[in-house]
Formats: sequence, structure tokens, C-alpha cells
Amino acid sequence: MKKFTFSLLSFLLSVSLLSQNIAPPSNYCGTIDLSPVQKAFLKQIQSKHIQTTISDRAVIYLPIQVHIVGTDNGSGYYRMEDLFNVICSLNEQYQPANIYWYLKGDIDYINNSSFYEHDFASGSQMMAQNNVPGRVNVYFVSDPAGNCGYYSPNRDAVAMAKSCAGQGSTTLAHELGHYLSLPHTFSGWEGGTPAPANQERADGSNCQSAGDGFCDTRADYLAYRWNCPYSGVALIDPVGDTVHPDETLYMSYSSDHCQNKFSAEQQTAMRQYIMLVHQDLLNNPPNSYQLLDTARLIAPLNNAVNQPANSVPLVWSKVPGATNYHVIASRFSTFAIPVVDKIISDTFLLAGSFAPGLTYRWKVKPLTASNTCASYSEVWRFTAGQPNGINQQENQLSIRVYPIPLKNGSDLHVRITNINQIIMSIRILNPAGQTIYYNTDNLTESNRQIDLPTAQLASGLYFLQIEGDQGMYIRKFAIIR
Ligand SMILES: [Zn+2]
Repeated sequence: MKKFTFSLLSFLLSVSLLSQNIAPPSNYCGTIDLSPVQKAFLKQIQSKHIQTTISDRAVIYLPIQVHIVGTDNGSGYYRMEDLFNVICSLNEQYQPANIYWYLKGDIDYINNSSFYEHDFASGSQMMAQNNVPGRVNVYFVSDPAGNCGYYSPNRDAVAMAKSCAGQGSTTLAHELGHYLSLPHTFSGWEGGTPAPANQERADGSNCQSAGDGFCDTRADYLAYRWNCPYSGVALIDPVGDTVHPDETLYMSYSSDHCQNKFSAEQQTAMRQYIMLVHQDLLNNPPNSYQLLDTARLIAPLNNAVNQPANSVPLVWSKVPGATNYHVIASRFSTFAIPVVDKIISDTFLLAGSFAPGLTYRWKVKPLTASNTCASYSEVWRFTAGQPNGINQQENQLSIRVYPIPLKNGSDLHVRITNINQIIMSIRILNPAGQTIYYNTDNLTESNRQIDLPTAQLASGLYFLQIEGDQGMYIRKFAIIR
């Protein structure tokens, strides 16, 4: 028994280690240079040939195409739950610039081990093969050429390490800053010490021609990861003044927790850059951000047992405004190694691949293109039982709902035929997940008719849930008034 407990413990430990991110790469950002177009743009804007004050501060919506890269056999994907959190944080980080990032299209899953852990050449190939035009292409991989992330000026796309894209990370904000033309605050120091004339002075007197070219970002000589406040050797500029780099800027290399802003000039540059160079991103913006309620889980009921391992019907309430739902099921409270990890537009999913005898947790999050920030539902659990022939049985079972459209005053009839199991309960749920009919007869009839008074029945999708001696299944039906 002791041995068993120990091996169980070591299994759980190894799983929890697996689920944690490995220590991030020592190299923060692999972006060494910007594109010629970006450099020309910066030169113009910083020499004031382009007016840098924008009176129009309307929100600019930018579409992100997410590519999640796994190994050849499809393992190692960046988790969608992390993705949604990171996009949500990203929008807080860009909110002062009135730039809003939204998810466009389906997530693109790529199985390719040489992209999963890549050098710059394979990374470039990955982007050339998979970039979607008119979108900001972001690739989540295991190892982007030894960095936390980088922006490729040739491919105009961003690669991110999964381990640097967790809660509280600022790498994505930094790389997308490059995408929108921003250099490092320590620009010029990436390849070693620049000539004295090109070192930005502490007093800012050459701020337009040295460093990042912005005058509201202090001189910065630190081209490596540093913690704040800076406590290394004194940084002395060419005239002997001490440089105090600003750890709060996303475009510096300070630790993630030190960073919280883009400067006003950086914000203006990013907005101008979009307007002048990347108008192609501005087509078809999504509906603006809308708050979303939390979904309510409906079935299987919490702590249900003996759920057919090959087909557990997961059902939750419709959330007004939501266009999609993220459904995740896992054995672990961290939701590591998910068995179900899907985005669907329905409020119903027949999920399989569970192991008989094991208990799973599941939860659901409502989504829109512009809101990935809604909370997950409560976590419910169920235990999987033996798989059954539920699919065949479902094919035989038929359900007829009439009259449609529903007439005032007449009952709604739900007729179920060919039920090939002993029924323990029949339940009908409305679109909000409330039970509007419940019967626990122990019956062997293969045909049933349920008559419902219509006063309370609004138009919408309803669920019929039958629990019997061979398991539970769920059917949807629509009521149209
Ligand atoms: Zn960088």
C-alpha cells in the first residue's frame, strides 16, 4: 500500500512538474533589427517630418492570427487557457494606447517538431508557410531560437515561447511593440557597446539621434535581463553622467514584473505606424468589447458517476453575447494535460476519450472575438464508467417536438421513441439551464410523450436529458414561437 501511495505521489509530482513552465530562456528577446520600412518610418516620425500628435484617439482594433505549434505527433501545445489570459493582459497593457488586440479566425494548430523547437532559419520557414495575410501572425512554440520571443522583420510575424507566455508575462506586449515599429529602449547596444556618439546621454540632449530615438524614454544601456531597481555597476554616459534606465518600459529588458507602460511617444508611434504602414489590419473590426456573464454548468450533474467513457454529454447554459465557448476537462485541478480542450459555438459537447474509473474536472468559459477575459464557470466533476453503445442507441432514438411554431394556448408535445433502456429520469432544460420538466418514473416503455404547458416556453434551444440504466444522453431541440 505504501509503495502504491509513493508511486502515485511521484506520478502526481511528475504531472505537476510537467504542467509548470520550465524556467524561461535566459535570452529575453531575439529581435536584433527592425525592417527597413520600420526604420524609415521611425526616422521620419522622430525628426518630426510626420506630425506626432494624433487628435483621433479612437480605439484601433488589430486582428491576431494565433498559430499553436506542437511536435510532429501533436504534443506540447500551448494551452488555450493561457492564451486567453495572455490576450486579456495584453489588452490591459495596450489600453493606454487605445490599441485593442482581438482573435481572428480559428486557432491554427501546426504539428512540426522542427518548428516547435526552431532556429531562426526554420522559424522563418514556419512563418513563410503559415502566415495569414491581413492579420498579426503570432506563433506559440516551445523554443523560438533560444529566446522568450522575437519579432521577425522579414516575415512580419512574432514567435513566442510557451514558457514566457504565462500569467503576468510582458513578452508578448514587447514583441508586438516591435511589430508596431518600436525599437528597444537600449537600441544600439544589442551587438555590444556602440560608438560614444551613438550612446544616448543621461540628460537626453541627443535623444532624437541616439538610443531608440524617443525623447520620453530615458537612456538605457542594458541589453540583457535585469531586475529592478537597477543595482549593477554604474552606467556612465560619454560625458560622465550616470544613466538611470527606466524599468517600467515594456521595450526595456527589465524583468516582467517591473514593466507597466509604453511612453506617450511610443504610443503615438505605434498608432501612426498602423495608419501609415498597416492599414490592411483595419478591415472588419469586431464588435466592441462586451462584458460576458459566467456560464452555468448543467450536465452531467456535479459528482455524477458512471458516465460513459466514450461519450459524456457536457452541457452548459447559453451566455448572452457569447459567440463561442472554451470547454476544458482534465484529471487535475490545474487543468494540466487536458482530455478536452475545445472551442465550440454550441452549448453542448459530446466528449469521449475518458478512462473508466477516473474522475475528471471540467469548466467552460464564454468568449467573443474581442473578449477572452470572462471567468470560467464553477468546476464540476464526474467519474467515467464503462463505455457503452450510446451512439448506436442515439441513432435509434428519435425525438419529435410539435407543434412548431408553437401556437398560443396549445401544449408542446415532446415524443420520444425507441428508448432501449430502463429510464431512471427524464429532464427538460430551458436555454438558461433551468429544469422545466422532471420525471423519475422507473419505466421500460420504449415510447414516451411529454406534454408541456406553453406559457413559460420562449423560443430557443432546449435540452432533453434521459438518464437510464445504460447511462445518460442528451438531445437538443428548438422551440420557435
Ligand atoms: Zn525585443
